[in-house]
Amino acid sequence: MRQNFVAGNWKMNLTLPEAQALTSEIVQMLHDEPTSVPAPQVVLCPPFPLLLAVGRLLGESGNPALGAQNFHEKESGAYTGEVSARQLHSVGCQYVILGHSERRQHFREDDALLAQKLKTALAAGLKPIFCVGESLETREANETFDFIGQQLAAGLFHSSKEELSQVVIAYEPIWAIGTGRTASSQQAQEVHAFIRGQVAAAYDAQVAADTTILYGGSCNAQNARELFSQPDVDGGLIGGASLKSRDFVEIIKSF
Ligand code: PEP
Repeated sequence: MRQNFVAGNWKMNLTLPEAQALTSEIVQMLHDEPTSVPAPQVVLCPPFPLLLAVGRLLGESGNPALGAQNFHEKESGAYTGEVSARQLHSVGCQYVILGHSERRQHFREDDALLAQKLKTALAAGLKPIFCVGESLETREANETFDFIGQQLAAGLFHSSKEELSQVVIAYEPIWAIGTGRTASSQQAQEVHAFIRGQVAAAYDAQVAADTTILYGGSCNAQNARELFSQPDVDGGLIGGASLKSRDFVEIIKSF
């Protein structure tokens, strides 16, 4: 279902006490301060060791929900050091980030692996937040649409309609992630409209209208309102600004 949506990707940051403090602050602020109605879906994605503690503080309401940042493509087995999708689900995760550019780049996750991981996540009952996005080089070569179209086709569009209904798509231009260089609202809208059009072509117009598409890349409390006001931008996947409770809650209140 298409909905206003903000997810925080904490990456490899925060100790247990820091994570507990941040979560408690966010929960308290969201309790005390009005957001748009219906309330945006909020997801916190801490590192693995912090999931249980953060999940306990979030409680059972499902909003904010708990999400993870990664998992192994196999269901279980002899993969020392890895974490399975079923384990994540069993500790209360509802969402998982998939295809983040940092995993594509530093951990060589390619489209074929992502396609496999998507199936594993869905089979375990996790909703993937599936990331796509171009490098600066690709943008400057005017190949953004081709590149993103290919990422969607190879990594995502093998899913059935029912499977896709469980997926949130995130457009994250690599040149905007962690750089302080945000895409303009026009640049974001242009790519989001393209992504929705690709979903319509691969499935149908109703599926496209029902798909939640997030923007990620130096989104912050100052620029979120402008980005979220674009017709095809349904919210944000937030890195740096999700580590500060006030900034993150201001972003959630930007619809
Ligand atoms: C991200 O890594 O998903 C992200 C959007 O990071 P930042 O907000 O820090 O650019």
